[in-house]
Amino acid sequence: MISHVGFSTTRPVILKTVHNAIVDVAYALSEKHHFDNERFHGGRDVITTGLTLSNFVAGRSTLGGVFHTLQDFYSHSNWVELGNIAPYSTLIKPEQPLQNLAGLSTPTCRNCIGGNCGTNLLEQSLLTSGYFNLFSKCSHGGSFDQTSTHDPVGGINKDAVDSSHGSLHQKAADLAVDATLELLEDIRQAVGDKNFLCKHFVCTSAIVEINCIAK
Ligand SMILES: [Zn+2]
Repeated sequence: MISHVGFSTTRPVILKTVHNAIVDVAYALSEKHHFDNERFHGGRDVITTGLTLSNFVAGRSTLGGVFHTLQDFYSHSNWVELGNIAPYSTLIKPEQPLQNLAGLSTPTCRNCIGGNCGTNLLEQSLLTSGYFNLFSKCSHGGSFDQTSTHDPVGGINKDAVDSSHGSLHQKAADLAVDATLELLEDIRQAVGDKNFLCKHFVCTSAIVEINCIAK
């Protein structure tokens, strides 16, 4: 969803941007890579496994894919609608339990009314996400989602301002940025400043490249 987080356009950042976008093609039908169909555990596994792999040479592309899955959570789930104003840190902390998940048989949505999906989520404090293939649950919504025309009609995604919950697009985008920054800070603390900079962001700048080569 979010293609960059405000860093200079050095080659590593461009690589991450490309690999972020590639996830929508390479893993188009993978529910867990997009937090679709309430695949919260699977989505977190994609993130935390990717973080482990990102310590290796292929880290830049892997991390780009991790960004994609992490950012999709805020657009495809009801985290924003639940009133949260901070990232869901548990998504990058595999030792912490994912809580308040809607059960597979728990209805989560009602019909949108006249194309207005502002109140289609049922009033409950359970975490859910949009489905592409199951009725009685919230649908993702949009032209690629054939289930959104069935009861319950409509969807909950916030991918764009004209999406089913597009009025919340900016809030989802802001949280996705905050979550991405939180993840990067987590990595920086784990690997140290020098490794973090050289491996992930600015090794193409002449000054830092010298430091990287010299270490
Ligand atoms: Zn996606």
